Amino acid sequence: MSGRWGLIVLPRTIGDFDHSLLEMVKEHPKGNNIGKCWQCGNCTAACPVAEKNPAFNPRYFIYAAKMGYEQEVKKMKDSIYLCTSCGRCTEVCPKGVDPSGVMEAIGTMIRKGRG
Ligand code: SF4
Ligand code: SF4
Repeated sequence: MSGRWGLIVLPRTIGDFDHSLLEMVKEHPKGNNIGKCWQCGNCTAACPVAEKNPAFNPRYFIYAAKMGYEQEVKKMKDSIYLCTSCGRCTEVCPKGVDPSGVMEAIGTMIRKGRG
């Protein structure tokens, strides 16, 4: 038998899901299409800010908010405001999501002390 014996693999559980984050984004006028995102990544690929700054990832921001990963949403607070509202992401989104609008909604949520 191959592999290492006695290696303890600690359980990795994400226990801070908060599905109310998704509901809050959906309630924002520009965030209501977040549920349609299918994570194709077109928005990140087209984003000039993401090209220069890998920490800025619209596809991942949307994913974290959708899943209710509160810890991940908290990590966005310094980078989410880098969006210049150029609109390229919205142009290339095949699902009509308006990624910059979703980020605006996430930013509003963070300012209100959520996420
Ligand atoms: S382009 Fe649209 S569908 Fe694709 S990941 Fe971005 S928001 Fe989601
Ligand atoms: S609107 Fe914001 S997220 Fe969308 S492509 Fe422009 S800078 Fe990137």
